Amino acid sequence: MPSYVITEKCDGCKALKTTACQYICPNDLMVLDKEKMKAYNREPEMCWECYSCVKMCPQQAIDVRGYADFVPLGASVTPMRGSDNIMWTVKFRNGTIKRFKFPIRTTAVGEAKPYAEYKPGTDDLRSPLLATEPDSLGLSQLSVPKK
Ligand code: SF4
Ligand code: SF4
Repeated sequence: MPSYVITEKCDGCKALKTTACQYICPNDLMVLDKEKMKAYNREPEMCWECYSCVKMCPQQAIDVRGYADFVPLGASVTPMRGSDNIMWTVKFRNGTIKRFKFPIRTTAVGEAKPYAEYKPGTDDLRSPLLATEPDSLGLSQLSVPKK
């Protein structure tokens, strides 16, 4: 089932220019009704059910009904992001609740080293070299064919 907005909970991201769900949706599906200040999924049939908007919404105002191969029919699945983990709460039709907590990062916030031990190369976006080349290839320079 595609994502849907629980309108009672949505606060329109307090009238920010871009709402959290608009920002994160990889398929550009979430839009804000500026009169009602409520978001909605404008093309549910195009939704990948990726849960990105569900995880991102600061009001927990978006839900996706889980597939039967993911949770039993009628269960609800709620993710809660922490700084280094995510907690999934599954509520079954009979009221049973189960929680699963998973780590989501291996380095502390701000500690990731994008270039690892390599020196960054060119910052020219039109260059055919990758970010750490030629250093990560063990070379001092790399010839680039001229156009
Ligand atoms: S992220 Fe949540 S609160 Fe913000 S506009 Fe979307 S549904 Fe509403
Ligand atoms: S579940 Fe994924 S594809 Fe669907 S609206 Fe949310 S972010 Fe977009």
